[in-house]
Amino acid sequence: FTMVFSFFVHLYLSIVHLDFGFLQPKPENAVTVAVSSRVLFRTEREQKVFEQQGVEEYLRYQIEHENEPFAPGPAFPFVKALEAVNARLRELYPQSEELFDIVLVTYNHAHVGIRLINTINHHNLFIERFCMTGGSSPIGYLKAWQTNLYLSADANKVREALTEGIAAATMFMPEKMTEVSESQLRVAFDGDAVLFSDESERIFKAHGLDKFFEHEKENEDRLLDHGPLKGFLEALGKLQKKFYAKGQRLDCPIRTYLVTARSAASSGIRALKTLRAWGLEIDEALFLAGAPKGPMLEKIRPHIYFDDQMFHIEGAAEMGTIAAHVPYGIAQKHNSKHNTSAGK
Ligand SMILES: [Mg+2]
Repeated sequence: FTMVFSFFVHLYLSIVHLDFGFLQPKPENAVTVAVSSRVLFRTEREQKVFEQQGVEEYLRYQIEHENEPFAPGPAFPFVKALEAVNARLRELYPQSEELFDIVLVTYNHAHVGIRLINTINHHNLFIERFCMTGGSSPIGYLKAWQTNLYLSADANKVREALTEGIAAATMFMPEKMTEVSESQLRVAFDGDAVLFSDESERIFKAHGLDKFFEHEKENEDRLLDHGPLKGFLEALGKLQKKFYAKGQRLDCPIRTYLVTARSAASSGIRALKTLRAWGLEIDEALFLAGAPKGPMLEKIRPHIYFDDQMFHIEGAAEMGTIAAHVPYGIAQKHNSKHNTSAGK
């Protein structure tokens, strides 16, 4: 382990927190969210320099621009909202370590770290943990930190994390980003192959929507198996209960949504019964019965929406919703921008 460790430039930085004297929560208490620098900030120009001119030119460019902060990327409003929730938790529970803990993961060289720290300070972000892997895979660290959610621009890393049982999703550079709440974190989840396993998705892919509805009605009392993002919903629920315990259920700064193509009358019951059996509450459940998700998400204005199907991600993104792709389950075999057949 020491050998592996020495290959990493691995920094624990106390940047902005020093003045406040906050303690770093232990991983088993915190809800750890790891985000890559390429989704927290916009780094397209730098990516281009790297791809077209190579690593030396890229490092030179980064050093020359190290006092220029990066602009906010797709995960930025989400991370800001996590910090707003932390502020509320600290008011209610000054001694508790049950907080969101944000880790910035970057494959970058340590030289680029200076620009990243400058950017974090510029945007008043509270990020103390940095994982600079110098090109190596961060998955081992994500496991060691008991990461509850990993967001990255790199679909291969996301797949690797999912294989290791870490909730993870790929984020893309959006053309437009809808204004989102600064005081309430809103997280929206698809059902099948996100919160739940893809067992029912397989029926849909093989036999179509009508057969799927029928199958789900017949099996409404059989619980669904858990999917890759279930653990993150659970972690959100754990923090929500801390607000409820202080009488802040109606004023809770975390709100969760299920946005599913299932229909309320038939297939929805199985989803709700499964969540209830798991002891998980979802604040709002929207059963769209196969209707497009984009317009509904536009109303919800979530900081992040998780779906396993690329056309839902694209549909959401077109309307300004930040959507993250969970590359899990049967849909990955069918995923294509050109496959326009009405999806579930
Ligand atoms: Mg799905």
